[in-house]
Amino acid sequence: TIDVYYDDDADRSQIDDKTVAVLGYGSQGHAHAQNLADSGVDVVVGLREDSSSRDAAESDGLRVATPVEAAAQADIVSVLVPDTVQPSVFEDIKGELEPGNTLQFAHGFNIHYNQIQPPEDVDVTMIAPKSPGHLVRRNYENGEGTPGLLAVYQDATGTAKQEALAYAHAIGCTRAGVVETTFREETETDLFGEQAVLCGGIASLIKQGYETLVDAGYSKEMAYFECLNEMKLIVDLMYEGGLGAMWGSVSDTAEFGGLTRGDRIIDEHARANMEAVLEEVQSGEFAQEWITENQANRPKYWQLRAQEENHEIEEVGARLRGLFAWAEEDEETEDESEDE
Ligand code: NDP
Ligand code: MG
Ligand code: MG
Repeated sequence: TIDVYYDDDADRSQIDDKTVAVLGYGSQGHAHAQNLADSGVDVVVGLREDSSSRDAAESDGLRVATPVEAAAQADIVSVLVPDTVQPSVFEDIKGELEPGNTLQFAHGFNIHYNQIQPPEDVDVTMIAPKSPGHLVRRNYENGEGTPGLLAVYQDATGTAKQEALAYAHAIGCTRAGVVETTFREETETDLFGEQAVLCGGIASLIKQGYETLVDAGYSKEMAYFECLNEMKLIVDLMYEGGLGAMWGSVSDTAEFGGLTRGDRIIDEHARANMEAVLEEVQSGEFAQEWITENQANRPKYWQLRAQEENHEIEEVGARLRGLFAWAEEDEETEDESEDE
């Protein structure tokens, strides 16, 4: 079984007298910076001169400096700019890292694939909330927590893990629970999950299902509802109570049909492809492809994105969601009241 760390396991004296530089004020950055500051930790946000995030950080009452100035003041540098720009930001700030300082990440990609090579005399840790940044912030404000992962890549001081736990406490993660992992495990499972199951796998399953119905002469609207819209209802049941809650809630006919047919769809070929995709993650082949793609200004990325945007299901969906706008309005009202 895994160890889960909670509030009582954190020693806040490990962070309370320190200065944290939060580089970037996007999804994770704004949440970490504000939660740390509200927890009484000294925070300086590092943003480039012409940053579009500067106004937001300043109007949230935070001190803003350039990444280099922020790193110079800080004991802990939390690297929360996009993964693809982290190596160049690190090159700018690495001269400001003093022995015993900490480089902190929310995802292991650049450390694990050697795109950032930190000096040996700093701690290198990760606190990765398992949620988008706006929820990390909202949960904290509501007195709730966001589950997170903790990893130590390099422990120069002997207190890297304790300090990371204190950071997790200050952003609210230990309220919910923090699980220890490694940079390798976090990075490889995260990439595999988003490629094979969450983002890639599910999008392809939906498109293939939709096309199968439309090609067989059924209406686009029915195909959209069956293959995309209902996905949320099914996933919500799984989220609440596992596969059992889903099987228990659908009709016996759906359960029998699903149990007899599901493995024919995602069969041993799909499994073999999953293993191949995992191997590309493990070998670094995927990482290299993505790094090279970025260096070339993302030709394949832009082409694939356009292709996806032009898929018929997107046009059908936009039209149908417009007709059923009442459902979306309800959700927005709910979101707003939660924000207050
Ligand atoms: P964002 O894309 O939201 O970060 C945008 C911020 O970075 C903006 O403030 C932007 O400011 C700044 N920025 C962009 N380019 C540069 C640059 N070249 N120099 C300085 N600042 C720059 O990042 P995320 O929050 O999504 O991701 C941050 C880290 O958190 C990543 O490691 C990611 O994997 C991890 N993570 C993200 C999660 C999420 O929910 N998004 C979940 C868990 C982990 P500007 O106006 O200057 O462009
Ligand atoms: Mg993920
Ligand atoms: Mg990810």
